[in-house]
Amino acid sequence: MKNYLKAFKTRQTPQWEPIPGSSQVPNSAGGYAWPVDDWVRLDRFLVLGSEGGSYYATERALTVDNAQAVLRAIQADGPRAVARIAEVSEAGRAPKNDPAIFALALAASHGDPATRQAAFEALPRVCRIGTHLLHFAGYVEGFRGWGRGLRKAIAAWYAQPAERLAYQAVKYQARDGWSHRDLLRLAHPKASTPQHQDLYSWMVRGWEWVGDEPHPDPALRLIWAWERAKRASSRQEIVRLIREHRLPREAVPTEYLAEAEVWEALLQDMPMAALIRNLATMTRVGLLAPSGEATARVVAQLGDAQRLRAARVHPIAVLAALKTYAQGHGERGKQKWEPVPAVVDALDAAFYTSFGNVEPTGKRWLLGLDVSGSMTCGQVAGVPGLTPRVASAAMALITAATEQERTFLGFCHELVPLAISPRQRLDDVLKATDGLPFGGTDCALPMLWATQRKVEVDVFVVYTDSETWFGKVHPVQALRQYRQRLGIPAKLIVIGMVSNAFSIADPDDAGMLDVVGFDTAAPNLMADFARG
Ligand code: CA
Repeated sequence: MKNYLKAFKTRQTPQWEPIPGSSQVPNSAGGYAWPVDDWVRLDRFLVLGSEGGSYYATERALTVDNAQAVLRAIQADGPRAVARIAEVSEAGRAPKNDPAIFALALAASHGDPATRQAAFEALPRVCRIGTHLLHFAGYVEGFRGWGRGLRKAIAAWYAQPAERLAYQAVKYQARDGWSHRDLLRLAHPKASTPQHQDLYSWMVRGWEWVGDEPHPDPALRLIWAWERAKRASSRQEIVRLIREHRLPREAVPTEYLAEAEVWEALLQDMPMAALIRNLATMTRVGLLAPSGEATARVVAQLGDAQRLRAARVHPIAVLAALKTYAQGHGERGKQKWEPVPAVVDALDAAFYTSFGNVEPTGKRWLLGLDVSGSMTCGQVAGVPGLTPRVASAAMALITAATEQERTFLGFCHELVPLAISPRQRLDDVLKATDGLPFGGTDCALPMLWATQRKVEVDVFVVYTDSETWFGKVHPVQALRQYRQRLGIPAKLIVIGMVSNAFSIADPDDAGMLDVVGFDTAAPNLMADFARG
């Protein structure tokens, strides 16, 4: 620090004071940063949620704070807020859909009439599967009553094609104390076809008699198969039902879920998200082994970029799977398995693929990771052990893997040696980041370091919660001095890793951009911004 101070005696404001004449506000750490507007906060909430809270706020306080920002956005321009919620949700940009469902329920309750209508119309776009709808029911009941508009919107959801609806009902039976029966009784959808009539009555009352022959109507055959599975008395029968009627795992009685043969049958039609979630189980029951057809099939599917994207598999889901799978035991250590190296490698590759295609910009990048104490609290997307600072390392690898010229820096109140490279496997990078020492926060350090060493940089990227307070110069002042000293119009991208209200980026400087960590659209937004 002493060396930096010698070089920077003028035009500097300590971070514990606001830059004179700026719109900076106090952050939670005793420093000053810019407040982000409610639209950025809406984005941060949609992508990052508030699970696990943060270093400065409990989960509850962070949720209240975010919900208030979402409400302000809804009140300022409800249809715009709904459009944003649907866009982020539908494109699979967030690790979890819950924040979008929660925000949609808020819009459906507290918006003006046009906003509520927009929210009802967006319902099938945000609540694409049965679980989402049941979650929505749980949220919305906390905000409003079951008026006519809401019941109509729910009824419309149940008018989707019968075969699809049957699958949803089998796969997602009940969540959070809500079942399809409850919703049908509330919404009273009018059956548009005899198949819908049969499905509704099965959801509400069940079927009394289930014969030996498959149901004559293909749209209802899955329901028949599930009813048969409940009464099955042998593994062979279950395997046949899965193979012939595409019965999902959720419809297989628990006692058969320890059998490799059952999982082999399930694997033939397993959706991508379920495949990623069940790798450990499939290894534990002996289906996935260092060699074998099932392993080859799983590796091929994980390598199928088109399928990954079509299934909206979020990189965090891949990362969570990799982290757990590679360690060979569950979080509580009860279940154990021998990780198959080919599967670990396939997950590692799938992480990069799931961000989509990013074209290299050819610019010179400096990636600065805030590894200070405050970045070690909270869980990104509720993944155990995935703190904002560990998640930053994974996020930075995306840019590092795309761009030729990039430098990694770790910092807290001083620079921290960061021994990571994009050639390392992700789970090793996570471990290395987790083990780093930490301290106070000075987000100006990456710019100061580059100035002092005359390192040529086009784009500084700082992964942080913007709770900077330690340094004797603000990050933007350090950036401006860098631009002046090196004659490079360097840009600054701030990756918000926590859904709080702050940014170190000056909103009035066109050379600075705020993006949200783990938004799958972030790498392309960053590349576009870098290109200008
Ligand atoms: Ca900090």
